[in-house]
Amino acid sequence: MTAEIISGREVAKAIREEISQEAAQLKEKHGITPGLCTVLVGQDPASVSYVTAKGKACQELGMKSFHHELPEQTTQEELLGLIQRLNQDDQVHGILVQLPLPKHINEAEVLYAIDPNKDVDGFHPVNVGRLVIGEEVFPPCTPAGIQELILRSGTPTEGAEVVVVGRSNIVGKPIAIMMLQKKAGANSTVTVCHTRTRDMAFHTRRADILIVAAGKAKAITADMIKPGATVIDVGVNRVGQKPSKKDPSRMVAILEGDVDFEPAKEVAGKITPVPGGVGPMTITMLMRNTLRAAKLRA
Ligand code: NAP
Repeated sequence: MTAEIISGREVAKAIREEISQEAAQLKEKHGITPGLCTVLVGQDPASVSYVTAKGKACQELGMKSFHHELPEQTTQEELLGLIQRLNQDDQVHGILVQLPLPKHINEAEVLYAIDPNKDVDGFHPVNVGRLVIGEEVFPPCTPAGIQELILRSGTPTEGAEVVVVGRSNIVGKPIAIMMLQKKAGANSTVTVCHTRTRDMAFHTRRADILIVAAGKAKAITADMIKPGATVIDVGVNRVGQKPSKKDPSRMVAILEGDVDFEPAKEVAGKITPVPGGVGPMTITMLMRNTLRAAKLRA
């Protein structure tokens, strides 16, 4: 039987409505409008489009959006100075420094300078620690989006075998920790695979929930999936170009996930597409963290 498609676009839309209502209530009761400040150093085209999308999402949800655009040659001290000012700014509840930063800047030092209570990306070691001990305040956005997709698709997690492919600090490790927690929506038995894993298919075939964040197109084939499993494909791989639907004179990237989607959907019970699966959830979770940061202040 063909799998049910988990639409990240639809789930994100529903969560955005909830966030927008909560933001309006916060303003009414406490006079606080959640504010997110993005910081961009240089003009990397992908980064420019990400920060633009974040600003647009703020406006759509009735939040304040601030933006600082700094030249490529900005020094570490100048950037740290800006972060100190944003840490003190009462209108700014969330600070997001768009990565990657230019090579002459020490990324870790910059991220660690952000006030942990404004770290809506959830990358500060204080927030990583809070996540590990089960007192998460700002879960990192992509893993938080993955967990919401699992929950809202009605997939049971309690006692489920969860297999995560990938162990990065931004996706693989945090989602493994989140699914392991002793709480509702988690309580799973978690296995994490990586490039040194012997016989990966042995593990993936046991998974009731398979989360793939490898960054390798078609790394997971249909024969590696347990029939009926829920498959969350985090991968975004640019595998070619095609003319844009809106403007055929412009070329756009052809995107593929880490799962060989067409055959996989004949085996899985539920599956996310690429694009339109995990992608739309990430910015939505950033908005949710910004709302949480504003509520902390209230
Ligand atoms: P990453 O830092 O490159 O990490 C990839 C991980 O996958 C590593 O742990 C690597 O193992 C493992 N891996 C790679 N190939 C493998 C294979 N053939 N078998 C088993 N393990 C393998 O990537 P990331 O930042 O976590 O991102 C992963 C993917 O998700 C990328 O395609 C990225 O574009 C996408 N992504 C999407 C979103 C979104 O919002 N949709 C957000 C973040 C990331 P080793 O540790 O052994 O090298």
